[in-house]
Amino acid sequence: MDSMAPFSDPVLSKQSAEAVIHLAKQYIQLTGRKPVFMEVCGSHTMALAKTGVKTRLKDYVRLIAGPGCPVCVTDQKTIDSMISLSKESGRILCTFGDMMRVPGSKHSLLEAKTEGKDIRVVYSPLDSLQIAEENPDKEVIFLGIGFETTIPLLAAAIQEAELRGLTNFSVWMTTKLVEPVLRALLEAGEIHLDGFLLPGHVSVVLGKESYSFLAEEYRMPGVISGFEPVQLLSSIYKLLQLCLENKSEIINDYPYVVSESGNASAKSLMSKYLQPANEVWRGIGAIPKSGLVLKENYQTFDAKNKFKIHVDPPRKTKCRCGEVIRGLAVPEECILFNKACTPANPIGPCMVSSEGTCAAHYHYMREE
Ligand code: SF4
Ligand code: SF4
Repeated sequence: MDSMAPFSDPVLSKQSAEAVIHLAKQYIQLTGRKPVFMEVCGSHTMALAKTGVKTRLKDYVRLIAGPGCPVCVTDQKTIDSMISLSKESGRILCTFGDMMRVPGSKHSLLEAKTEGKDIRVVYSPLDSLQIAEENPDKEVIFLGIGFETTIPLLAAAIQEAELRGLTNFSVWMTTKLVEPVLRALLEAGEIHLDGFLLPGHVSVVLGKESYSFLAEEYRMPGVISGFEPVQLLSSIYKLLQLCLENKSEIINDYPYVVSESGNASAKSLMSKYLQPANEVWRGIGAIPKSGLVLKENYQTFDAKNKFKIHVDPPRKTKCRCGEVIRGLAVPEECILFNKACTPANPIGPCMVSSEGTCAAHYHYMREE
């Protein structure tokens, strides 16, 4: 039997949803408004939409998507830079599949590939090492996106490249860290939040203790959640309980995989090769020390150091992804949603990504 089966059991899901609604009604009666929770993780956004949890709870709990999808927060300039890099012959660009259709200022990587540039989709940064070995006369550049879930894999690729003595492999680093963006959102104060549904996957690396700043410095409760309907509902229930009891605590509701202090070897791999640096988030802007770049000793693997390129300032569009990932707008409020912008013809990254909020609304919550 699938070990996850009880977590998606329809009877249990229905009972869990009713329990959440019961508690949410108490909250509404007490405060005169719905509780507002932000799901940080893009996979949660997709799971909440796909399983119908978001629609079922919409009259009782306001669930808003946050900046947790690595594709959605990749800056236009990054895509433009990769396209510019690909124009020189003798270079192979490698990236994850989701990045191919993210629009840059003018084009996507997919369009550049269609024009004959050597851009390849890989499933892991380690796959690009193989490509580098097979093409010793070419430069192989990996587009390094991702949160703490993916960053250890990037560090492992650097370690492996070092071991194999590869000199034709480098990474264009544009990684993102969860804590700085949560701090930036809370400090901007643009949106009222009652709590965070914290990411299950990222927390495997970070551990529960990494979120203590939320409770201690911002008096903000948070619950680390799994991805199945019963798990999501259980975590929302626990958030509601914390709010009703006026407690700012962090609860680990995904204890099967998330520990107190996270994955020590992944953390030490990251700190061996990488150090914090300012990062630009699409739709949010620059956030101090919100990304990781290669340390001084490993600059030979840093594509930004190896290839000096210039790109024009990003082009403004009517896309409201920036507001969507800050919880200030829902996809339907964008005039392009389901008109000019669809998954087949995305204008913004939130419609491209398999974890994007606009794609989630388009596929599972759209009213015909
Ligand atoms: S990287 Fe992990 S935490 Fe971030 S959106 Fe993807 S699954 Fe969620
Ligand atoms: S509907 Fe498209 S254009 Fe509008 S915010 Fe979403 S991704 Fe951006």
